[in-house]
Amino acid sequence: MSGNSFIRTFESYFVNLSEDYHVHSKYNDHSASDLTIENVVKQAENLNLVTIAFTEHVRTTSSWIKEYLQEIDAISKNTAIKIIAGFEAKILADGSIDCPDFCAKNYFIVASFHTLYHKKDIWLNALHKVIKNPYVDVIGHLAPEPTFQIEAQEIEELGALMSKYGKVVEINAKYHRPAVNWINTFVQQEVRMHLGSDAHCLNEVGRFSNVMDLVSLVKERRI
Ligand SMILES: [Zn+2]
Ligand SMILES: [Zn+2]
Repeated sequence: MSGNSFIRTFESYFVNLSEDYHVHSKYNDHSASDLTIENVVKQAENLNLVTIAFTEHVRTTSSWIKEYLQEIDAISKNTAIKIIAGFEAKILADGSIDCPDFCAKNYFIVASFHTLYHKKDIWLNALHKVIKNPYVDVIGHLAPEPTFQIEAQEIEELGALMSKYGKVVEINAKYHRPAVNWINTFVQQEVRMHLGSDAHCLNEVGRFSNVMDLVSLVKERRI
């Protein structure tokens, strides 16, 4: 599945509590050892989820990608759940993403800030560039760094750019992001949003109880 086909098949502006678009696995070096692809799918089946996206942390140097994709492909054929193969890629200071080209071009991509750049102009420029990247599907756990603030007008500009380039903003359960005022702005601008648990252990898969306040903002504005 390419990033673009994911966007084209996106059906709803409403977040769906039975869809989890941000799940990790033991392929990274800091998740629970029982967070296997197989166990995640079993957990998702037990929770009656309809869609999950595996979004493992990737780098251009990652060596496990082939095995990871093969395992996801094999298990996708043996479950009723819609399984999306993807990656979470770090946004670099120049606005590029730390991700091999073939992953970016062919799989579901969540782009996230994982490094503090300490300068608002670097952060904003990188974000603008990543929103314009045709291979990025989702902006993950979006929030400015603690040392600077993003003004209301700048949030509106970001939302307009997200809409123009068809990006999805993730409501992230692990970090409780984005902030309420960001979500309210994005809802008014009809920016697409969905849910990501950012699960790093099994009992976090599909768990959105701590972002129900944010979910209600999206639903209330849409009805
Ligand atoms: Zn992340
Ligand atoms: Zn993550």
